[in-house]
Amino acid sequence: MSVNIDQLTQLLGPRGTLLGDDVKARPNYAWGMGSCPARAIIRPSSTEALADAMAMCYDAHQTMVPWGGLTGLVNGITCAEQDIAISLELMNGIDSFDADAGVMVVKAGTPLQVVQDAAREKGWLFPVDLGARGTATIGGMIATNAGGNSVIRYGMMRHQILGIEAVLPDGRIIDAMNEMLKNNTGYDLKHLLIGAEGTLGIVTKAVLKLQPSPLRTFTAMVVCDDFGGVKKLLKNASTQLASSLTAFEAMWGNYYDLNVAETGRHQAVLPPHQAFYVLLESSHSEITETNPLEVFLEEQLGTEVISDAVIANSAQQADQLWAIRDDVEAKVIAHKPTIGYDVSLPLRHMQAYTEQLERALRECDPNVKCVIFGHLGDGNIHLGIGPAPDKKAIDDIVYNLLTQFKGSVSAEHGIGLDKRAYLNLCRTEAEIHVMKSIKAAIDPRGLMNPGKVFAQ
Ligand SMILES: Cc1cc2nc3c(=O)[nH]c(=O)nc-3n(C[C@H](O)[C@H](O)[C@H](O)COP(=O)(O)OP(=O)(O)OC[C@H]3O[C@@H](n4cnc5c(N)ncnc54)[C@H](O)[C@@H]3O)c2cc1C
Repeated sequence: MSVNIDQLTQLLGPRGTLLGDDVKARPNYAWGMGSCPARAIIRPSSTEALADAMAMCYDAHQTMVPWGGLTGLVNGITCAEQDIAISLELMNGIDSFDADAGVMVVKAGTPLQVVQDAAREKGWLFPVDLGARGTATIGGMIATNAGGNSVIRYGMMRHQILGIEAVLPDGRIIDAMNEMLKNNTGYDLKHLLIGAEGTLGIVTKAVLKLQPSPLRTFTAMVVCDDFGGVKKLLKNASTQLASSLTAFEAMWGNYYDLNVAETGRHQAVLPPHQAFYVLLESSHSEITETNPLEVFLEEQLGTEVISDAVIANSAQQADQLWAIRDDVEAKVIAHKPTIGYDVSLPLRHMQAYTEQLERALRECDPNVKCVIFGHLGDGNIHLGIGPAPDKKAIDDIVYNLLTQFKGSVSAEHGIGLDKRAYLNLCRTEAEIHVMKSIKAAIDPRGLMNPGKVFAQ
């Protein structure tokens, strides 16, 4: 069954409903690929209008696919011909900002950067940051429980949310706009919606908890001669720099070499052909005469935990170090076609996993290259594997090997359509059963973002 589009248009007005070529002009897959085949894209401008539209869809057994900024990387926004896409693009803006408490109330379609800039203006920090900040929305980030570079210090999206407003598939509005840090009154429904990838309802507003903006940030890149050194450095940084450690990003030698020496895309800030490079960042709320990161690294050099280091002396130099870490394009160009992976596993297993992975990939195809980098402080690595003409074969190797180490097939990006065949590798049968029971209780007709996370 399907909803009557004329009735939806009547409800939302012409600006609120896109049809025909306006729908086809929108993408259907990650990275802006494909053309959306949905029946319509609706764009409500208030929670109440959205609730009325969803109630209408529910009554008509109409499937609905929530859309934020479309920057997700696991095809969570992909529509089939019978679906209606629901875009939050007109539900955009900051409703209120309590600058004394550091609490901001935003509509779900608000881009991350708008929130970050508004927070910064009043001396606060919204600490989840990611490359797609200009386009990714707060609603989409909640739905995917987004991470980023500072998770080691501030946690993921889940940790920034005090309250939520959402519309359930049948149009009921859940007003859980809690502003308190403490509220132990039964089940915390916001945590069901965070990371649910739009399969349980649509997030319409959020209460965000901001952090004090640090006064000074220091950045450095160092060399470790083996993985044992990287682990020791992380432990020392976590204990000695403690809560001032805001990033610990590792690059395996081949990732640094590709971005710097092989492609010449970046100036060499440290000599190439070393085993591991680590980018560290520390952020501080007080002004000190010394650079605490430099003091820490001098000690690590002295005890041979690291063998070389470069410390940024300006914001521009810090950007230069980050640019080497963030340049994910070099591998895409050099090892076409490349597949990107986002996995996590306990740090103690990381070396065994990456070594076994490289061996298995070589056995599968001697030409394939695997560059490794990522948020090591969070146990999260990204893999760039290519040339990879047979994606399924590579997926199987990467994901099956993770099971031995109790790893996760998705550290940050979610399951969407792309990873659902591998969900059972990292969640037990009982866990998946409970997930499906929750889905059935909240969305008994299976109308919300059908086929995402698990097949229906
Ligand atoms: C260059 C680049 C860098 C990135 N870096 C990171 C990173 O460091 N860390 C990270 O975690 N991710 C990263 N991502 C992935 C992406 O930005 C995040 O997943 C982001 O949270 C998606 O937000 P969005 O608004 O674009 O959501 P969309 O892509 O529109 O949607 C993502 C999912 O959420 C659902 N959804 C969207 N809005 C809502 C809503 N209001 N209510 C309910 N469900 C909804 C959709 O149905 C879909 O399943 C990156 C992406 C790019 C392109």
